[in-house]
Amino acid sequence: FARQVETHSRIYDQSMGKQLRHRQNLLDRLKLAIQNDELELYYQPQFDLQSGKLVGAEALCRWHDSELGQISPLEFIPLAEERGLIRALGDWVIQTAVAQLQKWNKQGLPYPGLLSINTSAHQFDTPYMVNYFLERTHAIPAEHIGIELTESVMVRNLDRSMKLLKRLREHGYHVAIDDFGTGFSSLSYLSQFPVSTLKIDQSFVQRMEKEQSYFALVQTIIAMAKALGLKTVAEGVENEEQYNLLVELGCDTMQGFLRGKPVSADEFAKRWLKK
Ligand code: C2E
Ligand code: MG
Ligand code: MG
Ligand code: MG
Repeated sequence: FARQVETHSRIYDQSMGKQLRHRQNLLDRLKLAIQNDELELYYQPQFDLQSGKLVGAEALCRWHDSELGQISPLEFIPLAEERGLIRALGDWVIQTAVAQLQKWNKQGLPYPGLLSINTSAHQFDTPYMVNYFLERTHAIPAEHIGIELTESVMVRNLDRSMKLLKRLREHGYHVAIDDFGTGFSSLSYLSQFPVSTLKIDQSFVQRMEKEQSYFALVQTIIAMAKALGLKTVAEGVENEEQYNLLVELGCDTMQGFLRGKPVSADEFAKRWLKK
């Protein structure tokens, strides 16, 4: 029995060790990828649900490693957050998004409406990110670039992040709460929080045409947003039923594979920005 335990723990140690090495390797390579400008931003179009017209895009980070292949942001963003790389990554995202808008501008293409970039709760621990954002985006009219953040920001450091977001809003920038409904923000926080938009989480949107309770949730979020003077974006819209229900409920904007997947900047310009 003792030997069995020993074998088990050795196997356990080995697989633990393997996983740690994998994460360390991933981290080292991510660091280099950021330094060498090897990440890429993809852009997913967003459409007005009344007119059907393009009104914005979300910038989504992509990482293709020469050895490891495509790595999901669901894997490398949390890693960057845990291991102190999120500031460098976040700076790169802001820089790249701004540079892209300026490039399109030079090419005589219109802005894609409002371009939203994702931020992580860790970026709100100091005024650094907001300062950096304001500095870097000053050449872009505020209605053309904004940020998304998740409810965890509110939970982490309410007073501080509230002040920081207020500054962004005072400069006219849009601030959206991403994945709305999946966190635990209380309604009283929400009414005080300086945001302009709620993005309804895709897990609700994708069940709303099949399950009454999810439909009710989406309906309630939209009604509440309206009462608070906030815009709504439905994310993850994949079929016509969901689209039509969202129109009926008076949701403002949709984003999802039904109308457009995230694509490279060139592809985005070709498909969505050409007159
Ligand atoms: P998110 O901000 O909620 O982004 C939406 C995710 O849903 C994206 O996944 C997008 O590709 C996916 N999506 C869009 N439409 C549909 C649809 O119709 N069906 C389905 N099944 N999925 C859809 P992605 O690109 O893998 O990003 C995952 C998450 O990683 C993002 O969720 C965001 O939290 C994070 N992330 C991505 N890029 C960045 C970034 O530059 N900075 C930070 N901090 N986080 C990022
Ligand atoms: Mg987002
Ligand atoms: Mg989301
Ligand atoms: Mg998310």
